[in-house]
Amino acid sequence: MLTGNEQASTLRVSSLGSGSKGNATLVHFEETIIIVDSGFSCKTLEQRLNLRGISPEQITAMLVTHEHSDHFNGVPTFANKHQVPVWMSNGTSFHPKAEKIKQLNCFNSHFPFTLGNIQITPVLVPHDSREACQFVFDAGKKCLGILTDIGHITPFVASKFQECDILLLEFNHDINLLQNGRYPASLKQRVGGALGHLNNEQSAELLQTLNQEKLRYLVAMHLSEENNCRSLVNETAKKYISDMTEFFIADQESGFDWINI
Ligand SMILES: [Zn+2]
Ligand SMILES: [Zn+2]
Repeated sequence: MLTGNEQASTLRVSSLGSGSKGNATLVHFEETIIIVDSGFSCKTLEQRLNLRGISPEQITAMLVTHEHSDHFNGVPTFANKHQVPVWMSNGTSFHPKAEKIKQLNCFNSHFPFTLGNIQITPVLVPHDSREACQFVFDAGKKCLGILTDIGHITPFVASKFQECDILLLEFNHDINLLQNGRYPASLKQRVGGALGHLNNEQSAELLQTLNQEKLRYLVAMHLSEENNCRSLVNETAKKYISDMTEFFIADQESGFDWINI
């Protein structure tokens, strides 16, 4: 059992929903609570925060990975209503969608920065957007990685996610389900392309390079409801993680509940 103080100093993470219909992730350490992305309406985000025992007044900042609607569209209204500062890369900030945000701040994608008590390392990723970044969070000697919306794993990206205690990793699609599925050819090309989303095998490839001794939790994120299935993801991921690593799959409606790292 953790004492009150230890509990307060535990880095923890929860998803409020994950997938192409909307994403939002909470990162909490001591008095700092960051919302990473929101593709949900203001009302839905408020409701889902409430389910996790968090009120909008507690939010330190919102952090945006890129301008796609499933990550961005809910950010301006919530941030303005609750007077929350928003952080994103310069490239993302030049998108017209960012104009409405009152407290807009930019980080330099090449350097770590801090929000409250959490250090954040942006990691530039190949994705069909202006300056997409994913993130590594360090707090309380623990390390959390969030890596979704990336078309392929580069050596640079792999190097940045080596030492995570917990990794939230995209398992977007199965190649065969995508190829034989109902998407039009252009969308198949986009999703499966080098600037699209990770397929299960690509995610597995990254897993093989990680420090398995450190990795206590792996969560599969951003699954396509159309072109993937949980049993395939489960099977693929479990091949490449040790018995010591707990594995979960985040879903579109409920994400996953708090994980204390
Ligand atoms: Zn997305
Ligand atoms: Zn995207």
